Amino acid sequence: MARILFTFVCLIARVSTTLAAEIWSYDLTAADGPKSWSGICSSGSKQSPIDISTTAAMYDSSLGDFTLANYANTPAGVNFTASNNGHSLKVSFDSKMYHVSGGGLPGIYTTVQFHLHWGSNNNQGSEHTLDGKMFSAELHFVSMNTKYSNLSEALGHSDGLAVLGVFLKVGSSENQYYQMFLDQINSVMYEGDSVSFPAFPLVNLLPTDKTKYYRYNGSLTTPTCNEAVTWTVFNDPVKISQAQLGALRSLKMNNTMNIVDNYRPVQSLNNRKVKSSFSSTLTGEGIALKISNVVLLMVLLLKAAFCP
Ligand SMILES: [Zn+2]
Repeated sequence: MARILFTFVCLIARVSTTLAAEIWSYDLTAADGPKSWSGICSSGSKQSPIDISTTAAMYDSSLGDFTLANYANTPAGVNFTASNNGHSLKVSFDSKMYHVSGGGLPGIYTTVQFHLHWGSNNNQGSEHTLDGKMFSAELHFVSMNTKYSNLSEALGHSDGLAVLGVFLKVGSSENQYYQMFLDQINSVMYEGDSVSFPAFPLVNLLPTDKTKYYRYNGSLTTPTCNEAVTWTVFNDPVKISQAQLGALRSLKMNNTMNIVDNYRPVQSLNNRKVKSSFSSTLTGEGIALKISNVVLLMVLLLKAAFCP
């Protein structure tokens, strides 16, 4: 009898431990909020997201263009799956269909899903910040290094994943490309809902200028926060309409609560360096220097022309 009881207690303990590992929230005031996320989420030194300082970012000329294989295509007969996991809206697809390489990435990565983070108001919602500024939302394309056979193996390596991050801001008109998956919102209103729908070209979800981006090594922004991500955050935001942002905010995490403010606060940079694929715009000091050079050149030209 004692043995049966012991086995039962062990079983309960195991189930509750498993559940505890999976239960987390974005609520800063809750017991399961970001401050209490366990393991490497709290002990790691390469956590994401971060604040990107545009002036501290170091220009790296080796960060060239990306190769986005199949991103501009609409594969015939292929479907995507949109789902509500209680934390975000996710759109997933078969791996080996879309590939990301170049852009200084240490390998060829196959894209497995994209998902979004958004705020309860337009002044917040993005995970990364740019010089302390938050955007209204952020989209993440998650890709896995093809040298690993599955996601759990990739999560154990620093070059396991590549995530492309896109800042979203509110514009005056509807973004027809974002609407391709936002049309599915009503079918994934509650946690656990999922729906299959026709594939569409992914490239249009990214900014037009994909040559300007920031690069650093970081982590997943949700538990278990694995430090396995080569991050790319594009400099140029993409615009979606107020109604489209409203559609995201209408998603439910349960019967009463909407999914909003599903972003992790920025983490310490520690000794990491953020690189940029482009040289930043001239600072005030730089502009002054440039003007003084032009004035000097004009003086020299005038002197050469008029002075004997
Ligand atoms: Zn994300």
